[in-house]
Amino acid sequence: MSKLPCQKKREIFDNTSRQNEAKAVCAGCHALTSCLKTALANDERWGVWGGLTPNERWQLTHKDGSWIDYRGTLRLPCGTETSLKRHRGLREQCAVCEEADRRRRLDVEHALPGGGSRSGAQLHRMLGEEPCEACQMAFVEAAKLGHASRRAQVAA
Ligand code: SF4
Ligand SMILES: [Zn+2]
Ligand SMILES: [Zn+2]
Repeated sequence: MSKLPCQKKREIFDNTSRQNEAKAVCAGCHALTSCLKTALANDERWGVWGGLTPNERWQLTHKDGSWIDYRGTLRLPCGTETSLKRHRGLREQCAVCEEADRRRRLDVEHALPGGGSRSGAQLHRMLGEEPCEACQMAFVEAAKLGHASRRAQVAA
């Protein structure tokens, strides 16, 4: 019996940074469908099987936002403080978790007595939006105070 394409190219399938090459090899494999079914049945968390990466296979049957990272580890959905801490601990960048963190911090600023703050204005801008009225007013007030204190220093 002839070898399967992946058996002839083990060096590609054993290297997680070459997953696109592995998927291209699978695309021409006669056993792709049965291979994918077996990988799904075995909950295979490592390597390309049946033309899909571990995370792509996971996404076929899980719609809760969970995902599989390149280590084969199951990860919680993005957007929570826990997920952000995990990313930071692993030195990963995640735009979804960073944006969710800015939104949480903005909620804190909006809960202040004036309904906004200078920091809130900065957070709005970091989120790519214009500051709300309360944050804009707080920003202008803080700028006025800054000018006044500098004038006082110059006059002293
Ligand atoms: S589909 Fe499965 S058997 Fe075929 S090359 Fe890919 S991993 Fe190997
Ligand atoms: Zn994330
Ligand atoms: Zn605001």
